[in-house]
Amino acid sequence: MLPSERRLTTQAARCMDCGVPFCNWGCNVKNLIPEFNEYVYQGQWRAAYGALQSTNNFPEITGRVCPAPCEASCVAGLVEEPVTIRMLEKAIIEKAFAKGWVKPNNPGPATGVKIAVIGSGPSGLAAAQQLNLAGHDVTVFEKNEVIGGLMSLGIPDFKLELEIVQRRVKLLEQEGIKFKVNSHVGKNPTVKKILKDFDYVCLTGGSEKPRDLPIPGRKLKGVHFAMDFLLQQNRRNAERDIQGPEITAKDKCVVVIGGGDTGSDCVGTSIRQKAKSVTQIEILPAPPRKRKENNPWPEWPNIMRTSSSQEEGCKRDFAVISQEFVGKKKVEAIKCARVKWSKPDKDGRTMMTVIPDSEFELKADMVLLAMGFVHPVHEGMLNDFGIDLDERGNVATDNFRTSVANIFAAGDMATGQSLIVRAINSGREMAKAVDKAIKGYSHLS
Ligand SMILES: Cc1cc2nc3c(=O)[nH]c(=O)nc-3n(C[C@H](O)[C@H](O)[C@H](O)COP(=O)(O)OP(=O)(O)OC[C@H]3O[C@@H](n4cnc5c(N)ncnc54)[C@H](O)[C@@H]3O)c2cc1C
Ligand code: SF4
Repeated sequence: MLPSERRLTTQAARCMDCGVPFCNWGCNVKNLIPEFNEYVYQGQWRAAYGALQSTNNFPEITGRVCPAPCEASCVAGLVEEPVTIRMLEKAIIEKAFAKGWVKPNNPGPATGVKIAVIGSGPSGLAAAQQLNLAGHDVTVFEKNEVIGGLMSLGIPDFKLELEIVQRRVKLLEQEGIKFKVNSHVGKNPTVKKILKDFDYVCLTGGSEKPRDLPIPGRKLKGVHFAMDFLLQQNRRNAERDIQGPEITAKDKCVVVIGGGDTGSDCVGTSIRQKAKSVTQIEILPAPPRKRKENNPWPEWPNIMRTSSSQEEGCKRDFAVISQEFVGKKKVEAIKCARVKWSKPDKDGRTMMTVIPDSEFELKADMVLLAMGFVHPVHEGMLNDFGIDLDERGNVATDNFRTSVANIFAAGDMATGQSLIVRAINSGREMAKAVDKAIKGYSHLS
């Protein structure tokens, strides 16, 4: 349910239309925030929608799950709470849907150029929409059975409902974009077939290689990657085949290793599956409650945050290292120890040491590894295309061009695991680069 009109216009009225809108600087897609705030304040909702959709392909998604770096850089936030920009963004787009203003875009004059977009997350979908607008013939390939990437199969439904993503996918289909699900490029279709059938290729396959924890006992039953667990729950919610042996937290003592957002999503999902207890551990020290001097406004504040999932009933512990998974066939506990971090040296490097005699055991019937993602999967598609990688193992790009002619890359596949707003922006910018490569100019914004 949306907040009352009065609350929304009051928030919009708090916007000071600053000379330098730092909120706009904080937002990766450069949403026209002071402009849409003014329109909302004036009751001109349709104009607010016009401003919003001019920069952001999927405001209904960012309006729900963006961490809102815009709000962290809002000038009003220097003296009191920032303007609730994300809430306004969601209100504008939901009003637009309710009023029937959101219609499929008409593509530009057909160029006949065939483009394959590989991966249907926010970067792939944003690129597909922009390239289709520019008149190109776009086909999106997705290895899973549903379009949307992590928006559909990673982020839990209690944060972002599948229907919201699918409502947008339906519009994209009506715009003329072709979608091929269950199409794992590199397997079926092969890379050779893609190169034969398409003039240009856009790689938007995400950063899917999870960081592992190769400590003794890693092979015990009950130790899972976070994504295997989250993916299965999203499939279960959508009443689809869960694809593999069941992973459930029901009646278990769950330990989530990794203190970030993926870990937090595991916490919320475990609680919904009726886990006996949920503990989340993190190797880094607890962040400070307030900004540190070396992390000033309008930067993103690296401070302690508590997600709604964590509030639901999770024990959190920081500066803890996992040393061994203990059990016979199944995991029963984790041997842990406390660690100490040194102050950063002149290059910002910190050293970790294990505190002597600080060992302890955590009971665990199920362990979820949520320590981030190292890079995209190299085996298969990327190796077969012969794409160069950067020093972190991501696809190396120069203004979105890869090392192979007519193949571009964007989103997490090129930048590493990031945020939806950054993936949308990256997809848009790549589309502009591809359009320019084709036409010699681009009118895409
Ligand atoms: C659990 C979790 C929760 C998150 N929560 C948030 C959040 O709340 N807010 C936020 O802003 N960000 C969040 N993120 C980060 C955000 O989801 C990603 O940064 C974003 O989705 C990246 O978009 P992308 O398009 O680059 O890749 P993805 O969304 O990863 O999409 C890539 C797609 O490519 C497909 N693919 C890969 N290889 C192939 C192939 N060979 N053939 C065909 N298809 C292929 C994959 O199946 C996938 O569907 C979260 C991430 C995770 C893991
Ligand atoms: S996309 Fe994110 S950063 Fe941009 S206005 Fe919306 S909530 Fe703020």
